Amino acid sequence: MPAARPGAPRFRGDTPPTTAVVGGGIAGLTAATALAERGVRVTLYEREPVLGGRLAGWRVDLRDGTTATTSRGFHAFFRQYYNLRGLLRRTDPGLRRLTGLADYPLRHSGGMRDSFRHVPRTPPWSALGFAALSPTFRLRDLVRMNPSAALPMLDVRVPETYERFDHVSAHDLLESIRFPRAAHHLAFEMFSRSFFADPRELSAAEMLLMFHIYFLGSSEGLLFDVPDEPFPVALWEPLARYLQGHGVDMRVSTAVEHVEPTADGGFVVATAGEELRHDAAVLALDAAGLLSVVGRSPALADRTWRDRVALLRNAPPFLVSRLWLDRPVARDRQGFMGTSGFGSLDNVSVLERWEGEAPRWAARTDGSVVELHAYALPEEAAREAEQKRLLEQLHTVYPETRAATVVDERHEWRSGCPLFPVGGYTDRPTVRTCDPHLVVAGDLVRTGLPVALMERAATSGFMAADALLERWGLRGHTLWTVPDRGRTVILRSLARRGGG
Ligand SMILES: Cc1cc2nc3c(=O)[nH]c(=O)nc-3n(C[C@H](O)[C@H](O)[C@H](O)COP(=O)(O)OP(=O)(O)OC[C@H]3O[C@@H](n4cnc5c(N)ncnc54)[C@H](O)[C@@H]3O)c2cc1C
Repeated sequence: MPAARPGAPRFRGDTPPTTAVVGGGIAGLTAATALAERGVRVTLYEREPVLGGRLAGWRVDLRDGTTATTSRGFHAFFRQYYNLRGLLRRTDPGLRRLTGLADYPLRHSGGMRDSFRHVPRTPPWSALGFAALSPTFRLRDLVRMNPSAALPMLDVRVPETYERFDHVSAHDLLESIRFPRAAHHLAFEMFSRSFFADPRELSAAEMLLMFHIYFLGSSEGLLFDVPDEPFPVALWEPLARYLQGHGVDMRVSTAVEHVEPTADGGFVVATAGEELRHDAAVLALDAAGLLSVVGRSPALADRTWRDRVALLRNAPPFLVSRLWLDRPVARDRQGFMGTSGFGSLDNVSVLERWEGEAPRWAARTDGSVVELHAYALPEEAAREAEQKRLLEQLHTVYPETRAATVVDERHEWRSGCPLFPVGGYTDRPTVRTCDPHLVVAGDLVRTGLPVALMERAATSGFMAADALLERWGLRGHTLWTVPDRGRTVILRSLARRGGG
């Protein structure tokens, strides 16, 4: 738990420092919140017309004459996302707009199923319980495993785990452990695909970190919450009102073209319409956004930093298909299910089980709102054909949908997630740069803490704000994470004995 740096609770002078926050996803919104609450004057620039970044949502007109909100896809808000939850509490102190899903079921095309509902939450019983309850771990498979290769899983530390395993692929690590094939596919490949990457391309360190966050490093396990209304209503519209109440100048539909340092230590932020000077800048962009803004800002930070940013890459494209069906899925279908071995399908969600708008549509039409995700697709994938294939996989997983007519559909092809390639850790930007007034936030950032995905975006947003607040003598924020090492002394010493 990094404690807040001391300082004044709020800027009290006549001319508060000004900061440009570039990017209105979780990282940018967190940084803007953390700065504005301390009295810093923030201008938030977001290229898209709506806030939320990869969790943005927007209205669409459906063929049946109704309107609905759609998004870039289902997100699981895990209970160990302490800093993200801290952000959401600004507008929802009891987190009443999040609702828990009872289970995280997994299903393999071979018929095997897994569930985390009955798995104990306390480590190490969480991992042992999963192995004991899972049909994918049979006794003869366990005997075949290579326990010494698995020992590093028991004591994951940041950055040490990256120093040891960043040069190995997630796939090769799993092979060396000789995980049972089915478990390999079902539980662990799913982790690496949550990074939108093929396990052969993904750094093993990143997968070990996931294992630590969800299994051995925390007692919240793999159970999660979801917003009970579409993202804009449940999350971003209330946060936008909160930020405006704190004087934030919100500029949506405003892409930043370049950022240039000024002689007095500030920055000029240029958009198509104007150029504005700020005392500091937070770059809270996705990999492609950061790469292109920095590419057009040749005086930012220093050469080495700009060269490292130029190496960032997005993970391969993914497809999120939202389907409005004219009949309901079977009553026992869960709100969310991870899938493996069916082809490109990674998960299916049934929105009327948890999201307010979908059950209202489903009740009116006696239909169903279903979402299908397919990650790490080839760049050259033929879109129409892939969308059709995904629908066919839904028919296999939930056969009752074969009889359904698709009332309307939306297919989002995107590639906005960072790739964490084998050996890429040291090239990733950190929160601080060589320029004390230029900081970086986002899920692509190397934080030095055991956080990932949305929680890495939120945590790095607070860290970026804190780096600036420190310079202005303002108080920082206490951040919470799962423990930064294996939780259990016995397991830690076991890992050490194995050279971990
Ligand atoms: C389909 C899907 C499912 C996911 N599921 C989960 C999940 O279940 N759990 C989980 O923890 N994470 C999940 N993630 C990952 C999660 O969405 C991200 O980790 C998180 O949203 C990253 O936030 P961010 O602020 O770092 O980046 P982003 O949300 O990408 O924000 C960057 C912002 O910068 C803006 N921008 C870019 N260029 C410019 C410019 N020139 N000027 C101004 N603005 C610009 C972009 O429009 C964007 O709004 C999922 C992601 C996807 C795509």
